[in-house]
Amino acid sequence: MLRFAPLPLRDRIRLGLLALRAQRVKHWRELESLTAREWLVSLGGRRVYEVVWRPLLEGKFGRYADQVGATWMWTKLHLRGGSRTRSGKETLYYIKGGSEALLSALQRRLESLGVDIRTGVPVEAVHTEGASVSGVMAAGVIHPAHQVLITAAPQLAAGLLDGADHPAVPELQRRWSAVDYLGNVCLVLENNRRLSDTYWLNVNDPDFPCVIEHTNLDRPERYDGKHVVYLSKYLPTDADLYRMPDEEVFEYSLPHIRRMFPGFERSWVQRYHVWRAEHAQPVITPHYTRTMPEVESRVQGLYLAGMAQVFPEDRGTNYAVRDGRRAGRLIADRLSAAVPAGGSRV
Ligand SMILES: Cc1cc2nc3c(=O)[nH]c(=O)nc-3n(C[C@H](O)[C@H](O)[C@H](O)COP(=O)(O)OP(=O)(O)OC[C@H]3O[C@@H](n4cnc5c(N)ncnc54)[C@H](O)[C@@H]3O)c2cc1C
Repeated sequence: MLRFAPLPLRDRIRLGLLALRAQRVKHWRELESLTAREWLVSLGGRRVYEVVWRPLLEGKFGRYADQVGATWMWTKLHLRGGSRTRSGKETLYYIKGGSEALLSALQRRLESLGVDIRTGVPVEAVHTEGASVSGVMAAGVIHPAHQVLITAAPQLAAGLLDGADHPAVPELQRRWSAVDYLGNVCLVLENNRRLSDTYWLNVNDPDFPCVIEHTNLDRPERYDGKHVVYLSKYLPTDADLYRMPDEEVFEYSLPHIRRMFPGFERSWVQRYHVWRAEHAQPVITPHYTRTMPEVESRVQGLYLAGMAQVFPEDRGTNYAVRDGRRAGRLIADRLSAAVPAGGSRV
């Protein structure tokens, strides 16, 4: 850091001190009213913010960069700092086989318990009747249900609610539509050699701010000797890059990769894949606890649990599992409280 030429020496020292000062904030509530920009400028000064933090925030949040809450930044600094030992060595874990291994295990277990799982069948509407939720429509068929847990983005959930007669629905739709999201484009490369020995590289280039060489975390032998790299970009779904055909995304990325890794040659790439996710990152604003949807809604039997409710941490698979469990327990509690002795209600 002391050799970081874009900043004068005085600001390099401020940048180092910033990390220490950020660690001193022990509770996110102290920062709830601030934007990330306000907090970072107060910690490290305007120049450090402009040179280091603004490009990173714009790289991740684009036009929302100035609206991001300090709590989001604090969590990133705090949790990432927390995964390092005193010597600065970072310990990260990866599930062997990736998410698919986890999801397949869950599927096997649930099916063995008699759960009917339907994939590739979008829910078209969630119906209410009287004070309660009454069913779910999928592929034109209504499935009666007294308990419904939605795990999609709140905006999508709002669009599913069909309960014009229910007094709580308009307010619920307003609340669920209040959380903005960014999409994500992820370019995955299968290379025949290493780009570098770094696993996760944040780049001060808002066009492709993050290069992750996955096979520097998990061994290439697990991927037929391939070197797997992904470039990730969060962006609004109306951005050009989000809408580009796959080949153009790949072509667009090449000069960025070359700039970061001057020895890189196109011939190293054996195959590439482009993934897009429409609701990839909720925008966490100041006073987010006032905006964040509750898990239990005011429509009896209707629940929402998704990544917009992971707070103060930023979304991640571990939190999805944690919050899914919490929501499941809550529903089980409500059910057991409602069931008359010897009765059943699903
Ligand atoms: C590029 C990228 C990299 C990431 N890397 C990591 C990482 O390294 N580690 C980590 O822990 N986390 C990572 N995450 C975050 C992780 O993917 C999320 O935290 C996790 O997927 C959240 O799970 P979820 O079930 O809440 O939401 P999602 O995974 O978004 O699931 C919601 C599901 O609802 C479905 N859906 C929407 N509408 C309907 C409908 N009408 N009917 C039926 N289904 C519907 C969607 O298709 C989607 O499958 C990453 C995310 C991105 C975008």
